[in-house]
This record gives sequence, structure tokens and C-alpha cells, in this order.
Amino acid sequence: MQPVAELPVDPADLEYVTSCALPTPWAEFTLHAFIEHSTGKEHLAMVLGDIGNGAPVLARVHSECLTGDVLFSQRCDCGAQLEGALQRIAAEGRGVLLYLRQEGRGIGLLNKMRAYRLQEAGADTVQANEQLGFKPDQRSYGLVAPMLHQFGVQSLRLMTNNPRKIAAMEKMGVPVAERVPLLVNRNVFNQHYLNTKALKLGHMMSPVVATATSDGEQ
Ligand SMILES: [Zn+2]
Repeated sequence: MQPVAELPVDPADLEYVTSCALPTPWAEFTLHAFIEHSTGKEHLAMVLGDIGNGAPVLARVHSECLTGDVLFSQRCDCGAQLEGALQRIAAEGRGVLLYLRQEGRGIGLLNKMRAYRLQEAGADTVQANEQLGFKPDQRSYGLVAPMLHQFGVQSLRLMTNNPRKIAAMEKMGVPVAERVPLLVNRNVFNQHYLNTKALKLGHMMSPVVATATSDGEQ
């Protein structure tokens, strides 16, 4: 597992901008927008219920994946994790999903597509990123603490399979009271990718072989 190196975020760099109602198939969330001035990136928070009352908050810290979140890609589990997290928050009536604009584990959409090409030639997801000159995971979670601070969130029940993400939260002073597993959408197209995440990136998923196109919630 890579060491966790979270740079402190300059509070002046992240600005809270506005909010609006966001009805979804599962609940009516409030969508909040932030802008990160140094990069020009717009980051989002979907909030449901009273998350500032001190009790641990069911939360997902989701990094943008255009192909998975929007274009229904089955190469990864991002879209199913996004949907599953929102459904769980809706079922509990309280929680937050942070949507961070760091596409392709931080390498961007075009480089992610280049990495997919390399994977089609036989590399795994970690080797492909390294062949392009990137670390296996370039994501940073430094924005999470100031975003949660905006809402008075004190601790998380974090939906993740990624121990690096939990370590990053703890290092930023965001306590993780509980890890909530989020195992969804293992299929014949992404099983190699998910196994690589488990074996090389330390994700807490059993490397298994999928036999159906999708076995859904596990
Ligand atoms: Zn994805």
C-alpha cells in the first residue's frame, strides 16, 4: 500500500459557493457546490438529513469517474458504488456523499483511456498507470476535512473498501467511527480490475472469479 501523504489544504483555496435541491430516484438531497481556486475544479456534496448533530454520519467519499458514473461502464465498480452509496444514505434518511473531481484515480479522463488501452494489451490497472508515468493511485483527500467542516460533520461511518482512504481521513483528523463495506457490481468485465485493486492496492475485497455479468449487492 502506498504511504498516505495528504497536503494540508489552504482554507482560502476552497470556497463554498451555493446549494440547491437535488431530487433523485431515492431521496431529495441538497446539492452543495465548492470551488477549488488553485485548480478551478468544482467539487460537490450531496447531503440528506441533519448531519451536523454530532452523531457519526454515513458517508461516501467518491472520486469522479465519468465512464463509470455517467456512461454505464462495466470496466470498474464506480457507478454501482455511487448508486449503492446514495441508496444506503436514502434508506437511512441521513448522510453525505462528497463528489471529488479527481477523475481516473487522479490522472484525468484522457490518461485513464490511455491506461485502458494498455490494459487491453495485457497490463493490469497498476502497471498501466506506471507505464504512463503515474503512481498507481494519484488521488488526494485533502479537501474532505474542510468540506465536512462546512456541514459540522464530526465523524464518519465511511462506505469504502479502501484502507488508504480510511488512513487519509484519520490523518486529516476526520475520525472514521465505522467502515461500511461497499461491494457491488462484480462482473466478467471488471473482475480482473477488482482483483488487482484487492491484491496490489490493498482494497478489502476477496479476489474471486465472477461467473455472471453482474451479481449485484454482495
Ligand atoms: Zn470507475
